[in-house]
Amino acid sequence: MRCPFCSSDDTQVVDTRSNPQATVIRRRRRCPKCDKRFTTYERVELRMPRLVKKDGSRTDFDRDKLVGSMMLALRKRSVATEAVDAAVDRIEERLRALGEREVPTGRVGDLVMRELAKLDKIAYIRFASVYRNFEDLDEFSDAIREVKKPRVKRPRPT
Ligand SMILES: [Zn+2]
Repeated sequence: MRCPFCSSDDTQVVDTRSNPQATVIRRRRRCPKCDKRFTTYERVELRMPRLVKKDGSRTDFDRDKLVGSMMLALRKRSVATEAVDAAVDRIEERLRALGEREVPTGRVGDLVMRELAKLDKIAYIRFASVYRNFEDLDEFSDAIREVKKPRVKRPRPT
C-alpha cells in the first residue's frame, strides 16, 4: 500500500484488527520513509446485482419499487409493515449472495413469490396473477392449488 503522505511504495502493517462480526479488517500502517501512520480497511464487496429485463434492458435494483409492488399485492391484508420489510431484506440478501453482476428480473419475481407465499396467500395470488401474466383461468387455478398445498415446493435458485 502506497504511503498517502510521501508516496513511498514501501509501508508496513503495524496492527491488524477486525470488528466483532469479522466483516471488516482494519490495518494500521506505518511508512518507514516519512514515519507517518495511516489506516486501511478491507471489506467484502457484495453489491446488488443489476436487473436484466425480458427485453434485455438493464435497470438498477430499486427497493422502494419492490416494496411498492409487494404492498400493492398486500393491499387491505393484515400483514405488518415490519414483516414486509424483513421479507424485502431477505430478498436483497439472497440477491447479493448470488454474487452476480446481473440477474434476470424473473429471479426477483420468484423470490417475491416465495416471500408472499409465506406472508399472505391472497397477496401471493394477486402478485402471481400479474407476474405470471396468466393466459387463462387454468393457470390461475394452478397457482391457487399451489397455495393450498401445505408447503410450496419450489427449486432453490442456484
Ligand atoms: Zn511516507
